[in-house]
Amino acid sequence: MATASSVQPETLRTLPSDAARQVLWGFADRYDLQMLVQSSRAVARGPVARLVASGGRNSHEWTPEKAALLEAFDGAGITAVFMEPEEGGLFAGPKNLALALVAFELAWVDGGAATASLAGCLALAPIHERGTDAQQQRYMKLAAPAQPGEDRKPWRGAFCLTEPIPYVGVDTGMLNGKLRIVEWKAGEEPVLQLEKRGRFITNIGFANFVTAAVDSDDERIKGSCMVILEEGDPGIFDRGTPTKKMVHQLSSTGDPIFNLRVPASRIIGGYDVQDGVIVPRYNHSEVIEAVFRRTRVTVGVMTAAKLLSSVEPIIRYQRGRFRGAETATPGSVRYELGLQAREDALHRLVDVWATGEASASLGFAAARAFDELDPLEKEMEKLYAERGIAGAKAKMKLLREAADRAVELMQLPADDARRKPLDSDLLLRFVALDSIADVLCPAAKLWNTGVGTQLMREAVSLMGGYGITEDCPGFLGNKWMDAQLEATYEGPEAVQRRQLSVTMTNPVFLAQFRGWIGEMRGIASEHPGTGACALATAMSMWLWTLDHLQNSKDADGGRLYQSARQGVTFPLADALCWLVAARCQILDVLRLQQEGAQEASLAEELNGLVNFLMDLCHVQTARASGEVARIAAELVFGYNRHPAWDEAGTRGCWHEDELDALESFIPGINSYALDVVKGDGSRPKKAGPCVECHAAQPFLSLHARLDACLTGSRLAKDRAAEAISKLMIPEALDYPV
Ligand SMILES: Cc1cc2nc3c(=O)[nH]c(=O)nc-3n(C[C@H](O)[C@H](O)[C@H](O)COP(=O)(O)OP(=O)(O)OC[C@H]3O[C@@H](n4cnc5c(N)ncnc54)[C@H](O)[C@@H]3O)c2cc1C
Repeated sequence: MATASSVQPETLRTLPSDAARQVLWGFADRYDLQMLVQSSRAVARGPVARLVASGGRNSHEWTPEKAALLEAFDGAGITAVFMEPEEGGLFAGPKNLALALVAFELAWVDGGAATASLAGCLALAPIHERGTDAQQQRYMKLAAPAQPGEDRKPWRGAFCLTEPIPYVGVDTGMLNGKLRIVEWKAGEEPVLQLEKRGRFITNIGFANFVTAAVDSDDERIKGSCMVILEEGDPGIFDRGTPTKKMVHQLSSTGDPIFNLRVPASRIIGGYDVQDGVIVPRYNHSEVIEAVFRRTRVTVGVMTAAKLLSSVEPIIRYQRGRFRGAETATPGSVRYELGLQAREDALHRLVDVWATGEASASLGFAAARAFDELDPLEKEMEKLYAERGIAGAKAKMKLLREAADRAVELMQLPADDARRKPLDSDLLLRFVALDSIADVLCPAAKLWNTGVGTQLMREAVSLMGGYGITEDCPGFLGNKWMDAQLEATYEGPEAVQRRQLSVTMTNPVFLAQFRGWIGEMRGIASEHPGTGACALATAMSMWLWTLDHLQNSKDADGGRLYQSARQGVTFPLADALCWLVAARCQILDVLRLQQEGAQEASLAEELNGLVNFLMDLCHVQTARASGEVARIAAELVFGYNRHPAWDEAGTRGCWHEDELDALESFIPGINSYALDVVKGDGSRPKKAGPCVECHAAQPFLSLHARLDACLTGSRLAKDRAAEAISKLMIPEALDYPV
């Protein structure tokens, strides 16, 4: 009989089921989304996969075969996800999680296909977020797929912000696209002339309308705005030549040229006329801020899908690597395990899988946060109207007051009844969630795509030479390159880091972040195997470092935490992302454990899967903690000047004769003393006397504690690796390669 200590905990036997994923990612109660996942998957693993396998990515042109995918999207309900039911959409309410799930399914097979679908939503998003009622009604209906009995093709859109060098790129504030008034008859709508060149514009090969950012070139138009262009507008609507992309070839990209006459009613969000000047209600920055805030989450989810999609092909490759060789007979380790008999091959796959889980959890958490935020934003609009608050300044004042109150309440103990308004007061709920969404969105875009691309390289390398061929199962080589585009478009990493460096210092966010440390310790006391305790220590270290950098100067007296000092703010933003992703991963696994227990269909799978996913959490928290410790140490110490062997530097050093004199009173002191200057003036061979770190003592204590907190994380990795070596996978991938 097995003794208690020899009983192995259950572990996963198969890849996670859909039912488990639904609970894990928080849509077990959404039958509509579960259906959407199935229909998106049928398109991804059907027509999309067939097109990739037959070489559809080998052309830059927009081919009929690629165009056919758009119809497949329409047929599967993918195009309609963005719209409301009255506009021809699938379901009412927020759509962030729905769009993220569609992106996940399509990107599981091909990122370009996912982008082709999402770019249509991106084109509509300015109208959806800031358009007038009339604009929303017109373009949403035109872009919705035809209803049964309707004889029309849905309009496709493109979003045009980026311009040829030297204009819009990372710095979206500088626009070369211009807008002038060419006709303004008394009592009539002004007619505008729009000139803009775009660069790398997705969907442009077939777009029927374009939402374009332009600046005023006329003293009768104030500032910038976004304008809707239609392909039938008088003037030039030149789609340009296709971009010679090495990535996402199933989407259309090009450099268009527009020189068109449009009515002023095409200004997104409308305009007012003040003293004979057209004043757009929203400048282009306000529109794109509202748009990217949501759409960047879906991009982050795409890279997560790539990592998780690579697990099954890698396992199959590793297992079958030596089959067919004379020495690899069925039943032998070589035959059954192949490369999985090697620890490193398994450990690296654990890393890929753990990062995939963390990035999916972060991406879906961000999408769910925006689903929660959308209705709150609407309620806030009502609240402003009821209180007669108009104008950005008045709104900011109200939000600032609410933020101060929220921070005050968040500092109270978790069980203090005075905290109640945090859950019931609209303003407080809004500022709290808004501050989190402000961090989750750029974190998901930055971390998922940046770290995801690095891990995709690992995934490719695990397939050896096969990984960098077109025949690689799961198209892993394509996915590696595609991930780099996901890190670039909709604002590359510098943009996300810049945004995080501001939003992560919002006191409302920081107050909640402090609460997360307690939350992680609480989880650790119930579930030590998650690594939540290490994460809590790493979170404390991140907070200490932020505070230190905000209140310290470099060796030359320069302020450390300031916007121009990207060498300080950007790495700290990166460090935060590791923490946020690992936290989301842990919270998801706990949801699976708790809610999954109510699901009869998960009874067989649940315990083993939860144990395995907790081990992945532990692996990920160890990696995240290590990253935080590395980045923080460099920032805390790196801006001090190292003491030299000069007069000032050696002032605190021992001198040989002093030590000799002391030795008779304190025997052994000689062997403890560092940095001893000898009688002849010679000194140890090193950069200078060792640094005294009194001010950073709390940091060093945290560092020592964090190192010890990693206890057990490698045992978790060993367990996860062993589980992967025993896991059953299907005979073949469920899509063609
Ligand atoms: C295939 C594809 C599809 C695209 N689709 C669209 C689309 O549909 N619509 C659209 O409008 N655009 C689109 N783009 C454009 C894309 O959004 C931009 O390429 C991207 O935002 C980066 O701008 P850029 O290429 O001008 O890079 P740059 O601005 O030149 O940046 C290059 C690098 O310089 C650094 N850098 C630049 N500025 C700063 C700064 N202030 N601080 C620190 N570092 C900085 C960053 O590391 C950055 O990664 C697409 C691009 C591609 C390749």
